Amino acid sequence: MDPPKFLIQASEAQSMAEAASLTLPELLPTLVSAAQTLARPPISNYRVAAVGLGSSGRIFVGVNLEFPGLPLHHAVHAEQFLVTNLSLNAEPRLVSLAVSAAPCGHCRQFLQEVRGAGDVEILVTSHSTQQFSPLSRFLPHSFGPSDLQHLDSPLLLEPHHNALTLPQHVALPPHKLKLPALDAANKSHAPYSASPSGVALLDSLGNVFQGSYVESAAFNPSLGPLQAALVAFVAGGGHDYHRIVDAVLVEKDAAAIKQEDTARLLLQSISPNCHLTTFLCHSQPHSDQLNFSL
Ligand SMILES: [Zn+2]
Repeated sequence: MDPPKFLIQASEAQSMAEAASLTLPELLPTLVSAAQTLARPPISNYRVAAVGLGSSGRIFVGVNLEFPGLPLHHAVHAEQFLVTNLSLNAEPRLVSLAVSAAPCGHCRQFLQEVRGAGDVEILVTSHSTQQFSPLSRFLPHSFGPSDLQHLDSPLLLEPHHNALTLPQHVALPPHKLKLPALDAANKSHAPYSASPSGVALLDSLGNVFQGSYVESAAFNPSLGPLQAALVAFVAGGGHDYHRIVDAVLVEKDAAAIKQEDTARLLLQSISPNCHLTTFLCHSQPHSDQLNFSL
């Protein structure tokens, strides 16, 4: 059997399903066990994997990430990793997923951010009944985006254009990660605080990884931009966090919420020699400001 990976292209997924005489949704639970080996839970040693099918026919994997020495809210849950993986690959819709353990309340809430959340089909491989049930069964009477915003506002996995720009006139040396971080901030899903943000990471091989902040209507399950970028790093084959050598955060000046301090805390913990530079901007191009810090 091939080693597990974080993205399976549609043609390969179709071939795998046909070879096993399974439908694509039926293929998902067969991939969960191997996907659990990709998890990084040094605190709990409890490996979680979520394997999801997108509307394009591609299959995505998410796993849990834990960071010793930091408060637990820095952790990334497997379902959060999964949805972020879909977002990184511009997958428009999550159809179904198989997960190794029952989704926690935090993840049931986080999943509410996608369009048609209640219809996402979920199978828990540790349950005796191996069958899919809609998310609306896992979380009835849900609180979600429609309680706080208009239904026609873009949801997670839908295109976002946050109209953030950075000034061109400030005499600072160009930074390779500035535009990727700005791009990530412009794709950020932050409808409840209006405080989008994005991170770009550089590894020692010159690879760039982007992460967009994702908000939850229930606030606490929100996923920080650095965590999202770490999802991209891990899904992109990154192994040792110490290989992350440079980082840029873009967020709005005078925003309702700020990411810099908590991002710096996490980054210093996992890659102490990595610099974090923060660029601050407004969403109005004529009034942009910039703050430069190391
Ligand atoms: Zn969870």
